[in-house]
Amino acid sequence: MNYTPSKIFITEEAKNDTQTGRMLERMPGIPVEIIQDEKAIIRHYNDKEDAFTQGKRMVLLTRHKGKFFKPCPSVTDYVCCNYQIFHLAVGCNFDCSYCILQAYLNNPILTFYTNIEDALSELSSILKENPKSYYRIGTGELTDSLSTDHLTGFSEILVPFFQNISNATLEFKTKSDNIDNLLKMAPKEKVIVGWSYNSEKISQEEEHKTASLEKRLIAAKKVLDAGYKVTFHLDPIVHYEGWEKDYKESLDRLFDAIPPEKITWISMGSLRYLPKLKNVMTERFPKSKLAYGEFVRGVDDKMRYFKDIRTEMFQAIQSHIRSYSKDLALFLCMESQEVWQKTFGIRPTSIEEVSEKLDTQLIK
Ligand code: SF4
Repeated sequence: MNYTPSKIFITEEAKNDTQTGRMLERMPGIPVEIIQDEKAIIRHYNDKEDAFTQGKRMVLLTRHKGKFFKPCPSVTDYVCCNYQIFHLAVGCNFDCSYCILQAYLNNPILTFYTNIEDALSELSSILKENPKSYYRIGTGELTDSLSTDHLTGFSEILVPFFQNISNATLEFKTKSDNIDNLLKMAPKEKVIVGWSYNSEKISQEEEHKTASLEKRLIAAKKVLDAGYKVTFHLDPIVHYEGWEKDYKESLDRLFDAIPPEKITWISMGSLRYLPKLKNVMTERFPKSKLAYGEFVRGVDDKMRYFKDIRTEMFQAIQSHIRSYSKDLALFLCMESQEVWQKTFGIRPTSIEEVSEKLDTQLIK
């Protein structure tokens, strides 16, 4: 069932925004409180014992004061794919045990920005000022792109916007099957829907409240039939007893539902987390075993499996994918050149090299 909040907070300055009105129409009967001090509400929920569990039940509608459009955070020692983020929301109604937002955000409330006209105007200017650059843009860095789309209607604004843009592609990244709005529109291949995908065990045990893998695949098939491009993100790949068999089975199910030639690309990333996430994870999800692997601290300060373990996982998974398709574009998320070399036999020398390969997939 789609998410409904228990309460809506609206800042004074956001209360008359068009987007606020649209969202309130889609949440009839939910108590609303107009607030003067956004920071005080955030502090109030942050001080609660389980701030994230409580905060996920609340929605905050407010205006964003900073930049909406930013490059995906990258670190020079890792190969970056030059992805750009368009921030329209912060927080997520889903509750994955490994979610980095638990360690990264100091606002536990599900927050949506209502000055969407400002966001689109900022994006438009950047795309117009750089007509020779090609942008891959996603909305799912600090939130799930589609899990609340029935409330925000963001896709109804963004899909038509991107249809008229020649130098950018938009990707919705999701673990939901909330695609009703997408199916009502007529895409022109400018929009990708990317599903996070995992082994059945990790999905069931660690990705709480998300759509099952089966539902994600049914949804992927529907949007593909409707004319969107689809991608899959095998991320986070987790090392546990039986991982290889489980990931292979999961990929068999994926290719059974969606032929590889219909998939624009698959990315792979191993489990990684900020050290302070470990405490949050063990407190909020005591049954989770994710934090008990053999990890090493990377240059981006995130904990990762040892290089040999990561390489072994990527090699096994890529070889299984290659048994289905020699051409399907694959890439690694936030990995070193050495791991690229050991996995794919190539060592990308620059961001541009990886970026160009992915752009070619889109333009193709
Ligand atoms: S879907 Fe993504 S953003 Fe949402 S809880 Fe899971 S990891 Fe976090």
